[in-house]
Amino acid sequence: QCIAVCPTGALTELDQVDKVWKALNDPNQFVVVQTAPAVRVALGEGFGLEPGTIVTGKMVAALRRLGFDRVFDTDFAADLTIMEEATELVHRIKHGGRLPLLTSCCPAWVKFFEHQFPDLLDIPSTCKSPHEMLGVLIKSYYAKTLGIDPKTITVVSVMPCVAKKYEAARPELSQGAETADVDIVITTRELARMIREASIHFDHLKDQEFDHPLGESTGASVIFGATGGVLEAALRTAYEVLTGETLEKVEFEALRGMDGIKEAVIPIAERDYRIAVIHGLGNARTVLERIQAGETNYDVIEIMACPGGCIGGGGQPYHHGNMDIISARAGAIYCEDRSKPLRKSHENPAIIGLYKDYLGEPYGERAHQLLHTCYTARKKI
Ligand code: SF4
Repeated sequence: QCIAVCPTGALTELDQVDKVWKALNDPNQFVVVQTAPAVRVALGEGFGLEPGTIVTGKMVAALRRLGFDRVFDTDFAADLTIMEEATELVHRIKHGGRLPLLTSCCPAWVKFFEHQFPDLLDIPSTCKSPHEMLGVLIKSYYAKTLGIDPKTITVVSVMPCVAKKYEAARPELSQGAETADVDIVITTRELARMIREASIHFDHLKDQEFDHPLGESTGASVIFGATGGVLEAALRTAYEVLTGETLEKVEFEALRGMDGIKEAVIPIAERDYRIAVIHGLGNARTVLERIQAGETNYDVIEIMACPGGCIGGGGQPYHHGNMDIISARAGAIYCEDRSKPLRKSHENPAIIGLYKDYLGEPYGERAHQLLHTCYTARKKI
């Protein structure tokens, strides 16, 4: 097994490539892969391409060539996360719930607050992270659509992240279900290695599209990969839900950039929303200690453990802290967002169809059962 050091200092990397090959070679398994937003702007570096080269179409083609039965996009579930998280925020505000709401899609950050701030476990959003949401939908909604026993489905997530390997094994996520939401997690680096092992000429591949319906996404989901992206995406939806008006300018520049702690006050529907965006756990500790001391009045805070967010994740091609590389990947993320015909999560037709046909209301009973989780107070270390 190959062990590499995580930049968060909290985790080691477990090589799971052999498990993926085994699943792909098992004729009794239906093997579904999903890829996180940040993977498509860094995978090309594993094949000598410049940082920030967008290789979405080649990545999808390579995954099909490797033998996956379906190639889905975690971006679809990022749109779903926005539907749930924005509704959760509105619900807390309307019903006097505790604020600030903290984003919960970074498992390194989740583990950190469970150990370091167990008295604040009621403030993070209860939303599962996007790849876990997609995993549970593949094994419920999609399995039912295809008439397949979920136990014969293997879900593989390709992530920019080593902490997602630990996250997939958290018992809080599958909560008594017969199978885990996600079975195997590999990193961007591990996927590059699989493509090389299969002797696929990556740069010669013709672009292909994700499978439908769990491969459809908007620009809002793509920006999840960069620091500030989750809240920018949430604001695009929250604004239109709260005001009933169309948001013309979808870019929230105050939430972008590489400052460790960014703050903004955004007026929506006669209320000022106080927002913070944090990357790096040292910065998170600073702000959480201020929350404990009652010194802040934020409504919502995005926290990501890695520098620049997931584009700088521990499973990406090594960047050795070079912020030029991370900025190039961020530039590619925003370019991909601009290229999308739809840029707001609630406009994703596949998401609208999913709620209509299967989930019911955002933040409703079935959504809670499948898409939300809980946290555990752990020993301070
Ligand atoms: Fe993983 Fe880092 Fe992204 Fe957190 S910020 S989800 S640790 S890649």
